[in-house]
Amino acid sequence: MLFNGIDIKKDVTERFLRYAKINTQSEDGSEKVPSTACQHELARVLFEELKNFGIKDVEYDKEHCYIYARIPSNRSYKNKNGISPVAFIAHMDTSPESSGSGVKPIIHKNYDGKTIKYSKNPNLSLSPEESPQLLEEKGHDIITSDGTTLLGADDKAGVAEIMTAAKILSSKNCDIEHDDVYIVFTPDEEVGNGTAHFNLKKCRAKFGYTLDGEEAGELNCETFNARAAFIEFHGVNTHPGTAIGRMKNTIYALSDFINNIPKSMRPETTKNRGGFFHPLRIEADVEHSKVKMIIRDFDEKKMDDKCEKLKNIVKAVEKKHEGIKIDLKITDQYQNMGVIIKKHPELMKTSEEAVRLAGLKPFYQAIRGGTDGARLTFMGLPTLNLFAGMFNPHSKNEWASTRIMEYAVLTILNISSLA
Ligand SMILES: [Zn+2]
Repeated sequence: MLFNGIDIKKDVTERFLRYAKINTQSEDGSEKVPSTACQHELARVLFEELKNFGIKDVEYDKEHCYIYARIPSNRSYKNKNGISPVAFIAHMDTSPESSGSGVKPIIHKNYDGKTIKYSKNPNLSLSPEESPQLLEEKGHDIITSDGTTLLGADDKAGVAEIMTAAKILSSKNCDIEHDDVYIVFTPDEEVGNGTAHFNLKKCRAKFGYTLDGEEAGELNCETFNARAAFIEFHGVNTHPGTAIGRMKNTIYALSDFINNIPKSMRPETTKNRGGFFHPLRIEADVEHSKVKMIIRDFDEKKMDDKCEKLKNIVKAVEKKHEGIKIDLKITDQYQNMGVIIKKHPELMKTSEEAVRLAGLKPFYQAIRGGTDGARLTFMGLPTLNLFAGMFNPHSKNEWASTRIMEYAVLTILNISSLA
């Protein structure tokens, strides 16, 4: 579609291909933000491009690798929807789970609906059976990696979509009337640090949108409630030759504890709105063992019930293993942003309308995880997540739809005009 003389699909695809080739992989376990210096490379490119659009208010936080921009309002009135000014946010880093260096994106023009094979990685293939959304793209262009790296559509699809929209909104002949539109690109989302140095003083929006979702029309306003549990077992060690009646081996108590996690409440047995317990790591020896576990649920009350259940399991195991003491500590990680977003029906209504105007059917999907948007929401910037057209993120089988990327740009433009 042409908009102010800009071919949206062409622009967003070309940008995406360019950004995808820049390695921005973040690194787990680093205390620094950004966790990797390579993220600055994309930040520099975006900073220069935003300035070249003619946007005056662009800032590059070189210390922490954030880009902030503001496209000033070109209208004198406030819309009745009352959700402006808005911010569009995407993360520049890619997941540490799969290599992000030497990404060579491949466009599959007029995709035929068949299984895609990778000449560089014969062990890998991408089929509509495992990624059913592919069938929707039959006859359209999709993008994959060459099978040796991830693609990085998470979240360079979002970055490219925001950049194309920014180009249109900041062009001199822009006929979309909008309030102030803020743009923020963040580092280290994939390692849970994307909001660590997010400066809300540089983004004075009323509401935010992360472009970090999947299917066309998808809106996410709910994330899990997340807590972590630390369980420590204290026993008694002696020489095993003379242990009779004295040794209290915590390994038995630990294994009993793990076996008491209901099979129906595990990540591998739950979907949609079902929550779970998930033991991540154990350390075990005779005298002292520990378990780290995460607990997830969309519903606060059910989350409390799960914590209660865990306490009961601990009590039962302690009773069974006389002489072993078990400590349980539960800490908060993040909260379901839905409780705040739902207090702003105007935000949800405007978002749905913007998707509809783009020619799509809006639908809500609860995210079985957390997002930077959830953290921003609790920091005071209620932030919805919008579809961006990426699939199979974090894997070598990652792919992007140029058709959906175009829809995402249109949705950004519609939100800017309705806000
Ligand atoms: Zn992402």
